[in-house]
Amino acid sequence: MSMKIQNIEIEIVKKKIKNLHLSVLPPSGTVRISAPLSVSDENIRLFAASKISWIRAQQNKFATQLRHSEREYVSGETIYIWGKQYFMQVEYSYKSNNFLLDGEKVILTVRKESTAKQRRNYVNEVLRQYMKDEINQLLPVLEQKTGLKCKRWLVKYMKTRWGTYSDVTGTISLNLQLVHKPIECLEYIIVHELGHTIYRSHGKDFIAYVDTYLPYWREIKNKLNTLTLDYIEE
Ligand SMILES: [Zn+2]
Repeated sequence: MSMKIQNIEIEIVKKKIKNLHLSVLPPSGTVRISAPLSVSDENIRLFAASKISWIRAQQNKFATQLRHSEREYVSGETIYIWGKQYFMQVEYSYKSNNFLLDGEKVILTVRKESTAKQRRNYVNEVLRQYMKDEINQLLPVLEQKTGLKCKRWLVKYMKTRWGTYSDVTGTISLNLQLVHKPIECLEYIIVHELGHTIYRSHGKDFIAYVDTYLPYWREIKNKLNTLTLDYIEE
């Protein structure tokens, strides 16, 4: 079932839950309300109406993120690496691709005929290596500090999550897009996911744990939430 409020289409899912729950889902900003079976349609409508400005803000955020998907890897574009902005200068060569940080510039060398997708794949491969190098430095230090360990870790392109932990495989997955954020964001996500090796949810104990090892984590979290993802792959 769905309803329309101020031109916004809202999907309603009724199920056995205690509270109304509103979500705006990436990438296109689909709006969904999960509602307890007992709540009337009229009350759902009132609830939705009271949240319209928040819904619009979320949808705008996703729309901005999508605009960034038009990156073409041509000169003049900018790219963030570890929170620092670089201006892209594209050069052509038939020998081999190259990606070089040079002061404020990143010099990307590719074949002239290469497509945006091929350039992106190459750049992502380089950025993945940047991430791995940094994780190899950070993780042992943080494992030592917290006394927690993961079995394995991997860098993965994710659309909506900065990191995840799998109980089943003992694996921490870290979003490739963290490479664009200041380095403390990666540190925070590693501390957070290490926490999930012993705490399943974000309850009191979990929060106390993060407070202990990263007292200013809330600032970092805000930074992560306000900085938009650089692009979203189709
Ligand atoms: Zn978590």
